[in-house]
Amino acid sequence: MNTAHAPAPSFEPVAATGLQLQSALSLLQQAGHAIPACLQPLSTSWLQSLIDGLCELSSRDALTGLANRRQFELALTREVDRVARAGEPALVLMADIDHFKRINDRHGHPAGDLVLKTVAQALADCVRPMDTVTRFGGEEFAIILPNCPPAFGHAVAERIRTHVHGQRMVVSPGVEVSVTISLGGAFAPPWVRSSAELWVRRADEQLYRAKAQGRNRACLEQPASSHVSAEEKGLLFGSSQFQEFE
Ligand code: GH3
Ligand code: MG
Ligand code: MG
Repeated sequence: MNTAHAPAPSFEPVAATGLQLQSALSLLQQAGHAIPACLQPLSTSWLQSLIDGLCELSSRDALTGLANRRQFELALTREVDRVARAGEPALVLMADIDHFKRINDRHGHPAGDLVLKTVAQALADCVRPMDTVTRFGGEEFAIILPNCPPAFGHAVAERIRTHVHGQRMVVSPGVEVSVTISLGGAFAPPWVRSSAELWVRRADEQLYRAKAQGRNRACLEQPASSHVSAEEKGLLFGSSQFQEFE
């Protein structure tokens, strides 16, 4: 049953139990989230659906619907763990819209918002369901690609870049814009427990390189030259994977 726009359930039973649910219900309704209004309010299944809705809301970016930074950090921490245990190659891509401020300045903030939503969808269209596409902040996005060999990483970064460039956005009657993005990528060193922060930092360095080289390009750290930093080595010896063998 789709109850996305159903009126909020009566709050009388809520008052009876002392539970303060009104703001949670209002938040979910405002976000257009389905609340099973007609199921017995305060039943376990009703409360569970409320909790599920709040979890979903707190993990999504309101403008683009992508995973938000909080969700990204959770997913990345899980991936660091998986890479250390399974030794599978994984890639983090950082993508930043080029000269995005000009869109806002020339066409207004709502036009900028439209561009952000279109780019977000274009990114999501280019990756596998197992990948996590997030709005990292402002006009910057981050993508986690588990089980991603280097050749696939280069191909997907290029596919994303060209697909975003191909988007035509009508920002006002008769006015069409397109944007480019710069991408930076870093592979997780397999069998090594790095940290989410250091991994993102390496991808960010590549993004700066892409910007410095003229934008509208993807720079990925070469896995051959991918080195484990002194900080990462320090983490290696404190990791549980090695403690297991002690
Ligand atoms: P560069 O190529 O170096 O990345 O330049 P840039 O113009 O893309 O980057 P800059 O950091 O100068 O500007 C980013 C702009 O993004 C500034 C900020 O107002 C805008 N912005 C951030 N979040 C939003 C948003 O949610 N909506 C809109 N419309 N604009 C946003
Ligand atoms: Mg930018
Ligand atoms: Mg930026």
